[in-house]
Amino acid sequence: MRLRVLGSGSGGNSIAVRSGDTLLLVDLGFSFKEEKKRLADCGVDIEDVTAVLFTHDHSDHCKGAATFHKRLPDVPLVANGDTADAIASQTGVNDGWMLFENGEPFELGDITVTAFSISHDAADPVGYLFEADGSSLFVGTDMGVVTANVRMAFSRATCAVLEANHDPILLEQSDRPISLKQRIRGRTGHLSNEDAAMLVRETNPLCLKTLLLGHISSECNSPSLARRAFADVFEELGHTDVDLSVLEQDSPGDLFEF
Ligand SMILES: [Zn+2]
Ligand SMILES: [Zn+2]
Repeated sequence: MRLRVLGSGSGGNSIAVRSGDTLLLVDLGFSFKEEKKRLADCGVDIEDVTAVLFTHDHSDHCKGAATFHKRLPDVPLVANGDTADAIASQTGVNDGWMLFENGEPFELGDITVTAFSISHDAADPVGYLFEADGSSLFVGTDMGVVTANVRMAFSRATCAVLEANHDPILLEQSDRPISLKQRIRGRTGHLSNEDAAMLVRETNPLCLKTLLLGHISSECNSPSLARRAFADVFEELGHTDVDLSVLEQDSPGDLFEF
């Protein structure tokens, strides 16, 4: 499989995953024009997309859905029923949906997809495990807490995109309203660096080769803080061969093959 994260953070999220001729996008959190440009910058033509999967109905994950569907009406939009309904009511995209049940694996071209339920304040949010050719990619961001579903999927991954949203001290010191701080820290908010690093410690993922940290808060985190939280855990576990990267909001990440 090959992976390009086109952008990650509260300003917009989208991921491109390819295996053979199958090209999947996870989320459309940018305008169509921006999505097309970012894909083109990675040498990918947006016309080649096989299907788009949505994690949840927050605008930083679905704001490009309406224009994408208008321009490329034959590309299936894939989600569970509650997420599809919520995105349809926000964007007016009422057709073109392909629905799945959380936890039930399905095939999209060469890739086997399993969605797992996560804890976040959206209609029915999910993370994904993509499997092809003996490799597997975990995608899990926008999670208030780590659950058993998340641990199970993460422990199978050879490559993972994992949320490391905030540093708890920087969040506390920020001038965000108390209600927003509580939302972010709550059970349906976002994972701190420490929460996410704890997932690694608890699962000790032996097949993991590449870990990409995403949905990093621009105000309440820094790439070096996020990286440090994980580097310490990998050191402790003796997994010093894991390739650790921090994803950006403003530009696509490197190409990863796994
Ligand atoms: Zn988000
Ligand atoms: Zn969200």
